[in-house]
Amino acid sequence: MSNLNRQILHWEKDIGREKAESFEEKLSQMNPDVEVAVMTQRISEDNVADVIKGSDLIVDAMDNFQTRYLLNRVALEKKIPFFHGGVYGFEGQVTTIIPGETACLRCIFPEAPAPEAFPVIGATCGVIGCIQATEVVKYIVGCGWEEPGV
Ligand SMILES: [Zn+2]
Repeated sequence: MSNLNRQILHWEKDIGREKAESFEEKLSQMNPDVEVAVMTQRISEDNVADVIKGSDLIVDAMDNFQTRYLLNRVALEKKIPFFHGGVYGFEGQVTTIIPGETACLRCIFPEAPAPEAFPVIGATCGVIGCIQATEVVKYIVGCGWEEPGV
């Protein structure tokens, strides 16, 4: 219930369901030609290799820095891009991390902020998510951005 202010793919009728299942259902209804693969486990040291296996890139939509750092590390190891996004109330940040070419998440945020219940404004999540999606599209199509170091 507390997530509904920022979840366009989850509605009140979905309360109690796994977000991944609700996500798959809504995306499949939106476009039946899209192939969606979901998993419902929490990402951890034990399963991160399986979660990332076969991925061409990682989009960070996490709500905690420990998982972000874990995904950042795996992105560096696998040499795949990592698209970070985070929000705090009316503020947010987005960055694209290209292993070996740009700073990584640890370079930008050496220490995780202290865990706290933080305010989340739905519109902020929408803006940050759209910017992240744009960064991914720019990376995939190879235009609209400048190569790092050029
Ligand atoms: Zn780094």
